[in-house]
Amino acid sequence: MTLAAYTMRALPAQLSGLMPLALDLRWSWHHGSDQLWRLLDEDVWESTQNAWLVLNSVSSEHLLALAESPEFLNVYQAQTSHLQALNEADTWYSDTCDGQLGEGVAWFCMEYGVSESLPLYSGGLGVLAGDYLKAASDLGVPVMAVGLLFQQGYFRQALSADGEQLEFYPYNDPTMLPVAPVRDPSGEWARVTVPFPGRDVRLRAWKGQVGRCELLLLDANDPRNEPGDRGITSELYSGDPEKRIQQEMVLGIGGWRLLELLQRKPAVCHINEGHSALALIERAHCWQKANQSDFAKARLATRATNLFTTHTSVAAGFDRFAPELAELYLSPWLSENNNCLHNLIEIANGGSRDLNMAGVALGMSGRFNGVSQIHRKVTQAIFQPWFGRWPADDIPAEFVTNGVHTPSWDSPESDALWTRACGQERWRRPLTQSCPLQSITDDELWQMRRSQRKRLISYLRKRLRSQHCEHKVGSSVEAACGLLLDPETLTLGFARRFTSYKRPDLLLKDPERLLALLCCRDRPLQIVLAGKAHPHDAAGKALIKRWKDFSRRPEAEGRVVFIEDYDLAVANQLIQGVDVWLNCPRHPWEACGTSGMKVLVNGGLNLSQYDGWWAEAWNENVGWAIRPGATFEELSHSDQHDDADANELFALLEEQVIPEFYQLNSEGLPARWLQRVRASMDQLTASYSANRMVREYVDAFYLPMIAKGNQRNPETARQLLQWQQQIAQHWPRLRFGRLTSEQKDGTRVFTLDVYLDGLSPEQVMIELVAEASEYGGRIVQPMTFERSLPGAEDSYLFSVSVPDRPEDHYTPRIRPHHPLLHIPLEDQHVLWYR
Ligand SMILES: *Cc1c(COP(=O)(O)O)cnc(C)c1O
Repeated sequence: MTLAAYTMRALPAQLSGLMPLALDLRWSWHHGSDQLWRLLDEDVWESTQNAWLVLNSVSSEHLLALAESPEFLNVYQAQTSHLQALNEADTWYSDTCDGQLGEGVAWFCMEYGVSESLPLYSGGLGVLAGDYLKAASDLGVPVMAVGLLFQQGYFRQALSADGEQLEFYPYNDPTMLPVAPVRDPSGEWARVTVPFPGRDVRLRAWKGQVGRCELLLLDANDPRNEPGDRGITSELYSGDPEKRIQQEMVLGIGGWRLLELLQRKPAVCHINEGHSALALIERAHCWQKANQSDFAKARLATRATNLFTTHTSVAAGFDRFAPELAELYLSPWLSENNNCLHNLIEIANGGSRDLNMAGVALGMSGRFNGVSQIHRKVTQAIFQPWFGRWPADDIPAEFVTNGVHTPSWDSPESDALWTRACGQERWRRPLTQSCPLQSITDDELWQMRRSQRKRLISYLRKRLRSQHCEHKVGSSVEAACGLLLDPETLTLGFARRFTSYKRPDLLLKDPERLLALLCCRDRPLQIVLAGKAHPHDAAGKALIKRWKDFSRRPEAEGRVVFIEDYDLAVANQLIQGVDVWLNCPRHPWEACGTSGMKVLVNGGLNLSQYDGWWAEAWNENVGWAIRPGATFEELSHSDQHDDADANELFALLEEQVIPEFYQLNSEGLPARWLQRVRASMDQLTASYSANRMVREYVDAFYLPMIAKGNQRNPETARQLLQWQQQIAQHWPRLRFGRLTSEQKDGTRVFTLDVYLDGLSPEQVMIELVAEASEYGGRIVQPMTFERSLPGAEDSYLFSVSVPDRPEDHYTPRIRPHHPLLHIPLEDQHVLWYR
């Protein structure tokens, strides 16, 4: 493969703008250029939705003919000038905080789901990454994303005639993907190396253009690498720990080295999951070299502008590497930088002898967050072991609820409707709730829903015809091809990873009750399902087979369909057409969940467990919640609520969902249903968009973090380190003295003596802590320094007045205090009175 392929394509001069158009992935969500690609090669465009492939497969003859066609030239010129206008337009960022992010945000993730033509993702995390980038582009936020270019990526699914999952790994030919080689400052194809045991692994760099943002992708398939190393970037999530550490080295170390090579100076580094934690270490190494310093100071100086987002609900989800494996792989790289594995394990602590990558990420970050309000609490609990004697409530995890890129998920019908109500530019600016759909009548809403459902049904029929599992001798052709699906029937969608905690089998807990709903003559229900099970997840695969078997029961045939190979393209069709989107994870395992947000813009309604985002979004008017109000404390990770949840799910369907859908008013419209559709679209679309999410990251994280980072330089890093060493040195000898309390005017006044062993009272904070009880919520009240105790050295008196509760509800503690440090993330010392 040479660069020639990218530079010598014989494009007629007047069509040279086709190249940047075809390489800008905007065509995957902004449908203005569809017609252009159709004119070039309708067949390739319709079957792949890959404009780069279209441009590469169109014959020179056809191109020359098009170059003379006024019709084509019109479309072409409109699109090139449109692209230019989009790139030059003012944005939310340029209007409100222009330049404040400096050269921008380096965004790391193991997977990206930008478009089905660039299949580098397995599920929710990747799709979120894609939506984040697109929204950042819309808003003009400078983001450079870093990831891996997988030659095979995640598996593709088919089902056997018996309903067993089959897995295929088609090859992604990089030259056919909508990416181009990245050039270094001298114009050469950018390459970086990462030290591996006994060898260097060479990496090639590619660039996907996601609107205004760049997606930089590394691949190890350089012919000069050892054959085994060429396969490092072949599969996503293969499960083997050795392959994983190799991939994480390529992503983290290689990724940061690529940014260095390209002379990028990101102001913030935002990593998603611990997979890319090594990027933060390499960032510190670079600072260390530039400032001729050591790793400890480099860590202090750089971490203030590192953000770690965790998307996991169980600690078992974190990557952990045995120290022997980590030593083998990481020591060549670490020793190049005067660093050692011992340092990394210490940073990653958490009480384990393994190298825990989430621990490394945490220990290198200035702030960290979960992805919904409930997930913040879960994150506090998961990360508590990293914080010694700090209680979970004090773990400084924050949250930003995820959102979806609305323009990627709206249907042509809903696009037209929203444009009429709120204008063209609505998704490129902050979405506000000041744009309700008042000007849209109930009838228009209903016609939109009907035509979306109709399109879905014809899509399903087409898919079903081509699924080979349906070609089973003996099954009815009508059922197999989806001819029994009905465009006027209430359609329920369920599509996601098939894994136990998502409980795809909740409706199968009572098959007879489900059949009664499906077969009801006057008010029938139909269900469309899709989802992959991880290749090693036998339980997940069994769930698929159970549904497949159920769908073959004569009474259910043609009313329950399973669509193979759930991916972005399938998701896109389903979320446009279904009336109800079902999500029933086991509380509180769903960190956020985003698929339900995708139906909002299209007027689909959610029927979901009260978990993840739905626990924030739900109210009685916008949809249905299974067991609303159930909280994390009541329902820990167990399956004992499955039966009760299933029962409530059935009750909601029987008593509310189905009757409301079929209850028509005198105009023949389901008025109550449409009321909900309107409420859901009005109240939720803006709040659960990636547009809101990206702005939240900018305003609440990136900008304040940059301000903190500006306070850290080689000199302050030296001082902070010295300060921390002083704390560590004196801490073992701190002591509490006398504690007294008395009631006074309805409050309680505490006084306390402490011995600080040479630390000054400003270096610590004395706090009085009361846990939540029948007297009220949790209290953490700093005590005020009163005076030194003249008779005793290094001893001080503190006091405070607090709400009157029983004396023993309050416990004093001492913790370090420094205005420049984020405590307890950066210093976990704490001493409790008892
Ligand atoms: C949105 C999406 C997901 C994530 O959905 P969840 O609700 O988080 O399970 C997974 N896969 C695809 C293809 C998607 O489009």
